[in-house]
Amino acid sequence: MTPLKALGGTSDVLPEESRHWQRIEKEGRRVLELYGYQEIRTPLIEEAALFTGSLGEAAEIVTKQMYLFEDRGGRTVALRPEGTASVVRAFIEKGLDKTGGLTRLYYLGPMFRAERPQAGRRRQFHQFGLEVFGSASPYQDVEVMALLTRLLQEVGVSGAALKINNIGCRKDRPEMIRKLKEYFQTSLSDLCEDCHLRLEKNPLRIFDCKQDKCHSVAQGSRPPSQWACGDCKDHFKKVCEALDLLKVGYELDPHRVRGLDYYTKTVFEVIHAGLGAQNALGAGGRYDDLVQQMGGASVPAVGFAVGLERILMAGSANAVEEPKNFSSPQVFVASVHPAQIPQALALAEELHGQGIAATANLEERPLKRQMEQASKLVPNGYTFILGEEEVREGSVTVKEMSTGSQRKVARADLIRECFHD
Ligand code: AMP
Repeated sequence: MTPLKALGGTSDVLPEESRHWQRIEKEGRRVLELYGYQEIRTPLIEEAALFTGSLGEAAEIVTKQMYLFEDRGGRTVALRPEGTASVVRAFIEKGLDKTGGLTRLYYLGPMFRAERPQAGRRRQFHQFGLEVFGSASPYQDVEVMALLTRLLQEVGVSGAALKINNIGCRKDRPEMIRKLKEYFQTSLSDLCEDCHLRLEKNPLRIFDCKQDKCHSVAQGSRPPSQWACGDCKDHFKKVCEALDLLKVGYELDPHRVRGLDYYTKTVFEVIHAGLGAQNALGAGGRYDDLVQQMGGASVPAVGFAVGLERILMAGSANAVEEPKNFSSPQVFVASVHPAQIPQALALAEELHGQGIAATANLEERPLKRQMEQASKLVPNGYTFILGEEEVREGSVTVKEMSTGSQRKVARADLIRECFHD
């Protein structure tokens, strides 16, 4: 009998190694929960149409890499190649798109792509991912990127680079596509066969081609953000300013796009030089139209996914520290005026750095509405309120939610007073 072997591109994780997996999973969950994310678990198999419909017909993971088969009932099903489509399906199917407000979800689990296996490229691999629904705020993009940066740090990865770009909204697309088609038509003979197809279906994808010659043609093009409208440009400017304020390191990468159709405005990727040819640790972006496109309400969203195998390759998993004071009371950071939103986000980041679970209001809405949300989110915790005066004098108004008592505390004393006394 021929010896039995695991399928190519799949791996067993034996106890010595699974210790590292467990540590990363535990640490990752801890960081996600600090930011108010809750876990969703969706099936590993779905109707194939879910992916063809949402990821775009020309997406490589649909055309070339999907594990497709007919089940016993004659349905065409697929092993999930990524997480977002399933999460959005569940979000709509369970009516969460109708609830208004913010929904922060994360997932962890295996994904399947029939790729040619190589270092860092598996047929079954594992992702940590998150999706946040219900916010169109640029500061939501920032919070997600700050979370991703912290997550990588806390699981022991250093030296990762966050690359960001603005690819405009649905309204900007027709003109962008028309101009890009014009440009790429002039270099047809330098493009690979796949890019000829991309040129027809979605020329933005050419920026994602790994072939050297296509890459150099793409680098010669005007960047997609040049066709972004005023709103999208303003959105991206706020994203960059708030990343600076939070001291989240990033590089502008004007030719970076994502391989899937559904992204709008901010897109990002984290790369790590130590990974070789497959250098992406994770990627994501905003997708404001997908929920509606898949039959739900019009709900803006942003998300990302990181690969666990690549985190293990890039990191020194042993460097992970023990969690800090995870059981401290939770915090909601409110802002009196939209001008204080970046400061509120920065304060939440400071708390995350101390292992304190916190979410900041990122939407332009009255304090009263924020306080209503706070009493639902942190009934036994604190609301930290930042107004013009607080920002100017370096203080925070602290409301203890269980008693309703309120007092002003100097920013420098905040953590000691609220969490250590
Ligand atoms: P993508 O959806 O292709 O942007 O993937 C997000 C992340 O998942 C990548 O940055 C990788 O870390 C990981 N990933 C994607 N495909 C694979 C694969 N075939 N093997 C291992 N990790 C992968």
